[in-house]
Amino acid sequence: MQFIDLAAQQRRIRNQIEENIRAVLDHGKYIMGPEIAELEQRLGEYAGVKNVICCASGTDALLMGLMAYGVKPGDAVFTTPFTFIATAEVIRLLGATPVFADIDPNTCNIDPGALEAEIIGLETRHPNLTPRGIIPVDLFGLPADYGEINRMAKAHGLFVMEDAAQSFGAEYHGQKACGLGDCACTSFFPAKPLGCYGDGGAIFTDNGNLAQWLQSIRIHGQGKNKYDNIRIGLNGRMDTLQAAILLAKLSIFPEEVDLRQAVALRYTAALEGSGLIPPTVPPKLKSVWAQYSVLAEDGDHRNRLQARLKDAGIPTAIYYPKPLHLQEAFSGLKYEKGSFPVSEACAARIFSLPMHPYLDQTDQDRIIDVLISNP
Ligand SMILES: *Cc1c(COP(=O)(O)O)cnc(C)c1O
Repeated sequence: MQFIDLAAQQRRIRNQIEENIRAVLDHGKYIMGPEIAELEQRLGEYAGVKNVICCASGTDALLMGLMAYGVKPGDAVFTTPFTFIATAEVIRLLGATPVFADIDPNTCNIDPGALEAEIIGLETRHPNLTPRGIIPVDLFGLPADYGEINRMAKAHGLFVMEDAAQSFGAEYHGQKACGLGDCACTSFFPAKPLGCYGDGGAIFTDNGNLAQWLQSIRIHGQGKNKYDNIRIGLNGRMDTLQAAILLAKLSIFPEEVDLRQAVALRYTAALEGSGLIPPTVPPKLKSVWAQYSVLAEDGDHRNRLQARLKDAGIPTAIYYPKPLHLQEAFSGLKYEKGSFPVSEACAARIFSLPMHPYLDQTDQDRIIDVLISNP
């Protein structure tokens, strides 16, 4: 059994993928070929956002977003410690300071109350830092609480950059993920809900000015032409081949989102009364189920369950075993154990079950049987 079965998906669309790759081989425009603009157009239509800038990875998307906002040393950017390293890494890479706020224990997303306390407390705790923005993460495919977050951002003059690396296809109050902040960054890493066959990412924004900056940053800060450079940028382009592959995958994506939804509903129904806590989806939100993560009673319980599943040939994973404030890479920020107790407790108890659109009912029943059978 696979944790994420990319081969099942490929079997469905192999012909279309080969056809799209062949078209690129024929026209030979490997860099910024016509597939890039076509993909940007279709991603924007899907997410309901005016401008899309495809780029080389989700990490580059986050980096380019912060560069477009001019984030620099002395700036503070608020985010969650319970996420993949890239979210906070890019803040540090620009010399700015990540300021973490703990998560809501039900959704594992940033807790608006904790966030507000960090924003208000910044002046006392870090008088030398200038508050600039917030990067909420839509963890496991579930949008964060944008109603509260956007209200707070407005009140304090901060930008909101949605880390939608896991949430392309999700929804918040009728609006698709990638359209929930001032701009949004997603990833097309192969294992994400919409993945290519290599690295890829995209930035979404309704702000035309920001989009222009991002287009320039993506290609070495170019101005009127290739050898006119008006700002510092990077080589952040997506390969034409990856866009060609994504175009084939995007055509079946809405159906795959529904299939993921069905898998998640079956898990959640089966876990009732099992002693495991299934993920919470607040009203009017739709997760895209990048991961189906459950909370065990404690670390020992998690170890026992993971071992039992492994013996039955069922793979599991832990996202994330160590919150970012405890990572050595961020030791300079002077956080310690106990700084964010909810994140730490989640990291000790959480694990993820196989989740992909092609997980059939027989396999899923087997996972559930092993999971809820007594030791
Ligand atoms: C995957 C991921 C990223 C980084 O995306 P890459 O395409 O791997 O660079 C950033 N943030 C989160 C939350 C992610 O899950």
